[in-house]
Amino acid sequence: MGTNAGLKNVHGKSLPEADAPALELASVSYAYGRRQALNDISFSIAPGRFAVLLGLNGAGKTTLFSLISHLFATRDGHIHVFGHDINRKPGDALRRLGIVFQARTLDLDLSVHQNLSYHASLHGIGSRAANQRIHELLESIDMSDRLHEKARSLSGGQIRRVEIVRALLHQPSLLLLDEATVGLDIKSRATILADIRKLVHDEGISVLWATHLIDEVSHADQIIVLDRGKLVANGAVNEVVKDAGAKSINEAFSRLTGIVTLTRGGTGHD
Ligand code: ATP
Repeated sequence: MGTNAGLKNVHGKSLPEADAPALELASVSYAYGRRQALNDISFSIAPGRFAVLLGLNGAGKTTLFSLISHLFATRDGHIHVFGHDINRKPGDALRRLGIVFQARTLDLDLSVHQNLSYHASLHGIGSRAANQRIHELLESIDMSDRLHEKARSLSGGQIRRVEIVRALLHQPSLLLLDEATVGLDIKSRATILADIRKLVHDEGISVLWATHLIDEVSHADQIIVLDRGKLVANGAVNEVVKDAGAKSINEAFSRLTGIVTLTRGGTGHD
């Protein structure tokens, strides 16, 4: 895994990935009919970085994920994944992306192994390589003993962790997670967050972690704050706090979004 920085082709010309950000958005806007969901969003994430996309319900996080993952076509602005334009080279861009959507997406009537191997074959991974990768990843999250159980028998936190394993099967360099801990208890949330942070540390992958929970932010993260479709802050936590004239990230988020509800259960401006 890794970032492939400095790659050259046979003629010595730089490949798109060389020194490219893991993710780069330039002037991205999106509207559902007349409702403007995203307005002129630009930011980038460096390889190997853990970035938190912070915003209340309705801020535009899921819409942004739908554009980055090419579920929606980007009509205004540009999105590049490791230098590959998601509209012009979707295959190259999507190969580098792993995605965990907000909604649960495992087939509950299939076993953990069936869910994972089906997904691996969609990525063209042969069964021997797939089984090895499935085994390694499940082992790393202490779930290899659940391999042949139906997904239905897993807890919410375990289902989420299997979905994360599934997103990692093809060894992506950028992992997107949309509200990955929603509906989980404190222990499961902490476990999932710690697993993902370990991955960033051990394997150098980049992560975009969307949440409305400020307590999921750590001081070393990049934070990107969305408010009602607009980017209102982007940078290291200490810079964002300073620029907002605040004393803490809680206070900064409150100032930037004009709300008081900041922790678990926060639902938005309404
Ligand atoms: P949540 O955490 O609640 O999912 P979010 O930050 O992911 O919120 P989005 O779901 O991207 O926000 O929504 C952004 C805006 O776009 C909201 O005003 C929402 O009502 C609107 N929106 C989202 N999906 C649609 C849709 N299919 N049709 C019309 N409007 C939509």
